[in-house]
Amino acid sequence: MHFTELALNKPILKAIYEKNYDEPTQVQELAIPLILERKDLIASAQTGTGKTAAFALPILQLLFHQQDASKNAKKIRALVVSPTRELAVQIEAEFKDYSKYTNLRTACVFGGTSIDSQKDVLRKGVDILIATPGRLLDLRKQEALHLDSVEVLVLDEADLMLDMGFIDDVRKIERMCPEEKQTLLFSATMPAKVIHLAASILKNPERVEV
Ligand code: AMP
Repeated sequence: MHFTELALNKPILKAIYEKNYDEPTQVQELAIPLILERKDLIASAQTGTGKTAAFALPILQLLFHQQDASKNAKKIRALVVSPTRELAVQIEAEFKDYSKYTNLRTACVFGGTSIDSQKDVLRKGVDILIATPGRLLDLRKQEALHLDSVEVLVLDEADLMLDMGFIDDVRKIERMCPEEKQTLLFSATMPAKVIHLAASILKNPERVEV
C-alpha cells in the first residue's frame, strides 16, 4: 500500500515524503482508515511499529480538515496522554514533523520542569497537546488549560501507564474531556486491567493487532 491511498491531505503527504518512508507500516495501514472514520480504537502495537504515526497522521488529517480559526482557535482539540516524559517528547517531535506544512500547533507538558513556561505556551493556544498525567492534572487544577473542546483522546502505552499507577489519573482525565469524543487506546500488551479500562471508556471500539 502507498501513503497516497490513505486519504491524507497534501500538506501531510508532503511532510511524510520528506521523512523518506516507503510505505505505511502494518499498524498504520490498519489504524489510519478506522481513525479517519472516527471510530474508537484499541490497538496492540509495540514501540518501533510506527504506532505514533498511526495515530498522529489521521489526527492531523481530522483537525486540518475541520480547522475553524474562529471557534476553536485557542482550544485543545486532540490530547495524547503518555506515561513518560521521554515518550511524550518523541510523540511531540513526530506531530511537529508531520504538521510542518499545516498551521496546527502542538505542545508537550510533563512534570519535573517549570510549570510557568508550560502555562505560557498553553496561553498562546495549542491544537494538539501531549502530556504526562500528573502535570496535565496540575495544569488543569490551576486553570491553565481546558479540555472541553477535546475531540480525540489518545492513551498511549496504556499498559505502562497502569503499571506506573496512573489509573485514577487516566480516568479523571477521560472524564474531564467531553463525553462525545473519539478515544484511541494503544498498548504493547493487553493484560486484563487494560482490557477493563478499554471496556469502560471506549465506545464500540475497533480492534487492531500487529
Ligand atoms: P514508533 O513505533 O511510533 O515508536 O515509531 C518508530 C519509528 O518508525 C519512528 O522513528 C518513526 O519515525 C518511524 N516510522 C514511522 N512510520 C514509518 C514508516 N511508514 N516507514 C518507515 N519508518 C516509519
